Formats: sequence, C-alpha cells, structure tokens
Amino acid sequence: MIRVAINGYGTIGKRVADAVTCQPDMTVIGVSKTKPSAEAYIAKEREFPLYIADLSKKEAFERAGIPVAGSVEEMLAACDIVVDATPGGIGAKNRALYERAGVKAIWQGGEDHEVAGFSFSSSCNYNDAIGRDYARVVSCNTTGLCRIIRLVDSEYGVKKVRATMIRRGGDPGDIKRGPIDAIVLNPVTIPSHHGPDLQSVLPDIRITTTALIVPTTMMHMHVVQMDLKRPGTRERIIELISKNPRIGLVRRETGITSTAELKEYVMDLGRPRSDLWENGVFEGSISVDEDDLCLFQAIHQEADVVVETIDCIRAMMGTITDAEESIALTNHSLGFTPIR
Ligand code: NAD
Repeated sequence: MIRVAINGYGTIGKRVADAVTCQPDMTVIGVSKTKPSAEAYIAKEREFPLYIADLSKKEAFERAGIPVAGSVEEMLAACDIVVDATPGGIGAKNRALYERAGVKAIWQGGEDHEVAGFSFSSSCNYNDAIGRDYARVVSCNTTGLCRIIRLVDSEYGVKKVRATMIRRGGDPGDIKRGPIDAIVLNPVTIPSHHGPDLQSVLPDIRITTTALIVPTTMMHMHVVQMDLKRPGTRERIIELISKNPRIGLVRRETGITSTAELKEYVMDLGRPRSDLWENGVFEGSISVDEDDLCLFQAIHQEADVVVETIDCIRAMMGTITDAEESIALTNHSLGFTPIR
C-alpha cells in the first residue's frame, strides 16, 4: 500500500483523501489542518489521523473534541508521498519541509510550474512522471484543456488553439470571493496564464487563451476553437469522446444547456459531493467545418484534478507504469464512468 499524507484538508485535499481511500493500492496515513473547523470535524468523522501545522494550536483542537495525532513533520515521517493541497503560494513554502523529510511531493495548480519543475496531466505525460520525486498537477482549467486538446491532437494534429475560460467566481462554500454583480476580465491582458500553463505539459501546442470571471460557483465553462492539421468530422470527434475515460459527453437529448442543470444531473447520478471528474463536452456544441473545430465544455473546478492526483501518485511511486491502466483503476475504484 502506498502511504499518502494530505497536507491541507480543504476543497481539494478532502476530495483527494476520499479518492485515495477508495483505491486498492493506497491508504491515507493522515491529513492536516491549521485550526479547528467543519472540515476538521469531517476528518475526525472519516477517521483520518489529523495532524496540525502549528502544535501550539493542539489544545484548541482538543477543546473542540478533535484529537490531534501530531505535527505535520510527524505526518511526513509516516508517509511515502505527500499531496500538498494548501492554498496557492503556501505549497511552495512547504517544499523545504518535504525535502527535509525525504518524501515525494505533489503540488496543485495554485503553485507555479517551478515548484516541482514538472507539470502533470494523466492523459498527456503520465510516463514522464514515473519515479519522480516532485510533480505539480496542473490547475482545473488547464487539466480540462489538456484532456480535450490531447485527444484531438492525437487524431488530427492541432495547428492552433483559441480558448476562452468563463470562470466561476468562487467555490460554493467560499463566502469571501466574488464578483457579486460583474463580469471581470481576468486578466484584461491577453493571453491569460492558461495557455502558457498548458504548454508546461504540451509544449508543442500553439494556444491563445482569454479568461473572464462571472458570479457563479458551480463550474467553469470553456469556449474552445482548434485549427486542425487535417480535416475532421463531428461524428469522429463524438466517437473519440465517447471512448475517452476522462471526457464526458453532455447528450443533446438531456436538454442540458447550463452548468446548473449539469450539476443537478451529476447530483442525481449520486456522485460524491456531486463531483464531475470528467470534462463535460456539450454534444450539441461540437461543430467541425473541415479544419475548424469548436465546442463548449464544462469543467468542475473542485473535481477534475482529484482523479489526476491519484494517477500522479501511482506514476511517481512507479507502481503502475501504464497511464491507461492507472486511469482505469482510479475510475473503477471510484465507481466512475464518464457521462454519455
Ligand atoms: P482551500 O482553501 O479550500 O483548502 C486549503 C486547506 O489548507 C485549508 O483546509 C487550510 O486550513 C489548509 N492550510 C492552510 N495553510 C496550511 C498550512 N501551512 N499547512 C497545512 N494546511 C494548511 O484550498 P483549495 O481550493 O483546496 O486549493 C488547494 C490547492 O488546489 C491550491 O493550489 C489551488 O489553487 C488548487 N486548486 C483549487 C481548485 C478549486 O477550485 N478549489 C481547483 C484546482 C486546483
């Protein structure tokens, strides 16, 4: 069993912990929090040993009825690999901790590529992660772009991508983010950081990205256009998506035309936390005019990077050296088949 520690038990960390628990080849040896909170109670409920960054807070946890297993350093001593899911910027500061403990580490997309010197996407560069000590799973938006661009590039070749990310303002539980009533250019300059971030995984793809933030919490929506190297067909794109383990197809017949209805659909499917782990490509939007492909895809920011993190753990530990095998095992263990 691969012993996994999760440093930062928040939106991403709690999902990674549950996903690890479902896998047959890995186990959660501990999670960490900085102060007592609702999520700390959930960690207790799930029986994850809870470690804390600052031991002077131990009494506050114990007063709240939350037992403390020890310090983050002690958690690191007990693991093979740590998933850093602390807020963006804090993860980079933790690198020295991980080096001192001599453990492998995975960061999330809020950190820069340089934190690990290697950025990961299951369907693009699994093999390059094998045996590595450090990796960064790219952000939710970049993960969604990587999946669809890789799929189309391997069939037709991609000459150029233009993509606009219409981003959620904050996560559903995040009461401090906005906007409440605005469309915010994020940034006003072009390109947004997503294009260069994608190139940290797929360096040969030419891409220009733009991004806006809107007052919603559920998902991001991407408007994607690709110039193909060879003419394609809509039917073939649909066929390729239908066979892909990390890209779902929002069928026209569902009548779904929004993130709200898609979220409701995923909730009705009984997915934990109504998580959409796959890209949600809208079938009705897929349009191909010879070498010009356009589509809309919904990306659930809290979910898509979770399954990638599980694959990244296996690749770095070298226990499964085939991407398809790991992706299939991750999906199967979560009881997950992409929406069709
Ligand atoms: P979050 O704020 O929901 O959770 C972070 C957790 O880390 C909190 O529980 C906090 O208590 C804990 N923490 C803070 N400082 C700590 C420290 N020094 N040591 C240990 N724990 C500490 O954040 P999140 O949204 O889960 O984001 C985590 C990472 O994942 C970031 O890099 C972010 O950019 C990335 N990410 C987030 C999303 C998203 O939509 N939320 C999507 C993709 C990637």
